[in-house]
Amino acid sequence: MRRFSTQRSQRSPRKPIKVFSAIFAFSVLIIVSAISVSTQTLKFESSRAWEHLRQMVAIGPRPAGSPAIEQTRKYIKDELAKIGLKAAEQAWDDETPLGKVHMVNLIVTIPGASKDRLAVTGHYDTKLFREFRFVGASDGGSSAAFLIEFARVLKSRRNRLTVDLVFLDGEEAVIEWRGKDNTYGSRHYVETAKRDGTLSTLKAMILVDMIGDRDLGMRKDSNSTPWLADIIWGQAAKMKLDRAFLPALTTVEDDHLPFLAAGIPSVDIIDLDYEAWHTPRDTLDAVSARSLQVVGDVLLASLPQIEARALTH
Ligand SMILES: [Zn+2]
Repeated sequence: MRRFSTQRSQRSPRKPIKVFSAIFAFSVLIIVSAISVSTQTLKFESSRAWEHLRQMVAIGPRPAGSPAIEQTRKYIKDELAKIGLKAAEQAWDDETPLGKVHMVNLIVTIPGASKDRLAVTGHYDTKLFREFRFVGASDGGSSAAFLIEFARVLKSRRNRLTVDLVFLDGEEAVIEWRGKDNTYGSRHYVETAKRDGTLSTLKAMILVDMIGDRDLGMRKDSNSTPWLADIIWGQAAKMKLDRAFLPALTTVEDDHLPFLAAGIPSVDIIDLDYEAWHTPRDTLDAVSARSLQVVGDVLLASLPQIEARALTH
């Protein structure tokens, strides 16, 4: 603006050009501010995710079938409703080594240009421990908190794929991780999608789990679909965030396995080197908003490549 007023004093006789450049400068200003507004709304805000995490940890231990997980569901649904999103309940009773447990996946659908879908998932239950109080700040809290904030961001994004955000119940073993005593929610989601014929529109799945670790370091999981993991880890490297998205490999069993078994390209974003894992120390002290921010930034920046690839396959 300042440069324009200097021009005016120097070239007073050339009025039409002056008017034209004024309009041009004004339009540029409008476009630039429009772009900055849209990037602003597309920012993953870890301060919001942190508040969700704090509120859910404050509920206490949240194992599948408990009154506390019912309260957690209410919290998630209320927070989504505040941003104009409705979570559908996918409820069932599952057989566990401790008998029948009532479980509920929460599904939020954000329409995209295509009917083909991307699922972004994470569990919101915490593992049942009778011998100590386990509040799962990273293990269960971080994924659920992340998904609420990610939903807010995706709602204002122009999505090429329809996105299903799925809050999975029953990821944790009721007793011990073996046989079918784990991943109840993801297995139920995939089985239901197979039965109702919606699995064919599901083109990719991104799972987040235990992403709150203060000292975030996530190795690439060898069970995950290579192209999907490569896009995300490659994007992180471009953003110089490879201290969090480590290039080294590991092998993880998690909620992505039922999706992979059904032929859906899937990736698990998880920090397994978490010192507080399944201990009374998985509290707010062990996690940080910064870690949620890193995952939010990398995933958001990876979406265009994931959408492009998913739509050509
Ligand atoms: Zn766990």
